[in-house]
Amino acid sequence: MFSVQSDKLVGTTIGELIIPADKVAHVQMGNNLQHALLVLTKTGYTAVPVLDAQYRLHGLISTNRIMDSVLGLERFEMERLEGMCVEEVMNTDIPRLFVGDELIKALKLVINHPFVCVTNEDGVLEGIFTRRVILKHLHKHVRSMNK
Ligand code: AMP
Repeated sequence: MFSVQSDKLVGTTIGELIIPADKVAHVQMGNNLQHALLVLTKTGYTAVPVLDAQYRLHGLISTNRIMDSVLGLERFEMERLEGMCVEEVMNTDIPRLFVGDELIKALKLVINHPFVCVTNEDGVLEGIFTRRVILKHLHKHVRSMNK
């Protein structure tokens, strides 16, 4: 086992660990599900943020939600994708972080979420905090302690 030096690790704020908004794949309010499915398939991500024209976060759209929304009795009714908007299907019950939040809060959230959106006070997306980034950070920290 290793012991965590709380000041160095847990006291860190998340600002330096986020993927900035301009590198985050997203869809816009008003986009149809056909477009959202295209973005998700092309990027390989399971879910992406839904933003408005001011970059404010409204929810997350995932392949699972899209496919579930067009699941008929016997088949996926893919012809319905074009007529439905992301806001009809997106998940709005999502956690958020702020840039100044401590790492311990983010760590707790990524136990149940592969990534968490980071916004400012106005709800504008500043970036995302992913499990991958925190695992990389922890790995580096543990290695440096063992040297
Ligand atoms: P990772 O921890 O890198 O495997 O990412 C976990 C999840 O975070 C992915 O499945 C995506 O839903 C989301 N994600 C990671 N990077 C991005 C990105 N650049 N743009 C949009 N979503 C992302």
